[in-house]
Amino acid sequence: MARKFFVGGNWKCNGTVAEVNKIVNVLNDADVPSADVVEVVVSPPFVFLPQVKATLRSDFAVSAQNSWVKKGGAYTGEVSAEMLVNLEIPWVILGHSERRSLLKESNEFVSDKVAYALSQGLKVIACIGESLAQREAGETMTVVSEQTRAIADKITDWTNVVLAYEPVWAIGTGKVATPAQAQEVHASLRTWLASNVSSGVAESVRIIYGGSVNGANCRELAAQPDVDGFLVGGASLKPEFVDIIRSAS
Ligand code: PEP
Repeated sequence: MARKFFVGGNWKCNGTVAEVNKIVNVLNDADVPSADVVEVVVSPPFVFLPQVKATLRSDFAVSAQNSWVKKGGAYTGEVSAEMLVNLEIPWVILGHSERRSLLKESNEFVSDKVAYALSQGLKVIACIGESLAQREAGETMTVVSEQTRAIADKITDWTNVVLAYEPVWAIGTGKVATPAQAQEVHASLRTWLASNVSSGVAESVRIIYGGSVNGANCRELAAQPDVDGFLVGGASLKPEFVDIIRSAS
C-alpha cells in the first residue's frame, strides 16, 4: 500500500491574529499537489485553532500541539482530547521534543497521551528522536526504539498514527540531518516495527522527518524511500512551506 506523503506545519508558540491570517492566506492561495498526493496539516497554538479552522482551505487540516493525558476536569491550563474533538480538530502533535525536554514528558506519559487521544478519535503525530549526545554515543536506535516501544505497548491500532522522527539536534538549529541519516533511521524504525508490531504496520505507517527542513533541502530528503513527509517548524511560518508541500510530487 502506498503511503501518502504527509506535511505538517508546527507553528509552536508563535503568531498574532494578523500573522495567522497572513499565513493562512498564503496557504489558501498556494498551488500545491492534490489531496490524493499530499496530506497537509497545520498546527497553530490552541488559541488560534478556531480561527485557522474557520479560514483555512478545506483540503488542509488542522492539528493541536498537545492534549491532556486523560479525560478533562480539574487540570488547570490543560486542553483535553474531548475538547479538540468537540471543535472538530482532527489531529494532535504529541511527544514533541520541546515538551519532552522542557516539561519532562516521559516516554510513558507521552504514550499514555497517544493512547488516550486515539481512543477519543483524534489522529496523532507522535514525535520521537535522539539528542546530540545520544547520537554521538551511538544510541540513536536504542532511544527511538524505546520511545516507539512505549507507544506500541499502549496501542493496537496504528491507522491514525504518523511517526515523526525528529532528531533533537536538528530541531530549530539549521543543522538538518543528511538524507542518508534520515533514511537510515526511518528504515531501521520500519524494521523495528516489522519485528515488534507487525509487517502491516511497518509497511503502512508514515514515518516523517522533522528538523530544520526548508525549501532548499526538502526535495533531497523527500526522495528517500522511507521518508514519507515532514514535520516542519520554523519554515512552516514562511511562504517556503509551500515549496515543502510541493516536494511531495
Ligand atoms: C519542529 O519543531 O517540529 C521542527 C521540526 O522545527 P524546525 O523545522 O524549526 O527545526
